[in-house]
Amino acid sequence: MSRSVLVTGGNRGIGLAIARAFAEQGDKVAVTHRGSGAPDGLFGVRCDVTDAAQVDEAFSEVERQHGPVEILVSNAGITDDTLLLRMTEEQFTRVIDANLTAAYRVAKRASMGMLRKRWGRMIFISSVIGLSGGPGQVNYAASKAGLVGMARSVARELGSRNITANVIAPGFIETDMTAHLKEKLDAEMARVPAGRAGKPEEIAAAAVFLGSDAASYVTGAVLPVDGGMGMGH
Ligand code: NDP
Repeated sequence: MSRSVLVTGGNRGIGLAIARAFAEQGDKVAVTHRGSGAPDGLFGVRCDVTDAAQVDEAFSEVERQHGPVEILVSNAGITDDTLLLRMTEEQFTRVIDANLTAAYRVAKRASMGMLRKRWGRMIFISSVIGLSGGPGQVNYAASKAGLVGMARSVARELGSRNITANVIAPGFIETDMTAHLKEKLDAEMARVPAGRAGKPEEIAAAAVFLGSDAASYVTGAVLPVDGGMGMGH
């Protein structure tokens, strides 16, 4: 069955790989972008996820084009790393707003259509850092840990209506976000049993599973896709 899928931040990186993977299996896929335009073959809606009015309008556009969103992938995210003592309140709240409050905005808006349909899949892209913490990442880790509590609360609230909410916790994945960390990455690889960074397509495979009928009894789960980096967290 062809589903209506929305991937926030699906214009590049992990989000784009997720969008392409759903499109390849025949789903109707929309991605948000902030002015870059839609990648080839995908339906794009302009949306800054920190703006509730833009989120509402983006969903309305997707509804007109593809019908209500049935599979939501809340993927858009940013980092603004610095040590706690130097971190300004603006740096803290900006990351929380983009990574956590935005996930609440899109989940709430998506739940309207999912409740009506009595079917839905919400997938939140967290991080291994949300579970283990990271130096210089107080804001980012807090936002990513928050997604776990959020997803599990959604899972409890909406589980009886065939709506699942799950979290993917990627490890180091090669994208623009980690490109400037190349040296740090090489050192970190010693901590990764797989001995290498991951590829966006490896996150996409997990997202496709969580969005599938095969995952109908999986909810409130945190699925690490991190080459073993976070084992035990
Ligand atoms: P990129 O930096 O490559 O892409 C980030 C995406 O988020 C872009 O599409 C960007 O849009 C979008 N975005 C950021 N802020 C907003 C906003 N306010 N409104 C709308 N879109 C926004 O990152 P990745 O692909 O690497 O990361 C994707 C997700 O995966 C993030 O949530 C990240 O935290 C998470 N993750 C990544 C890991 C990694 O190693 N790469 C590891 C663990 C988690 P635009 O193009 O307009 O800037």
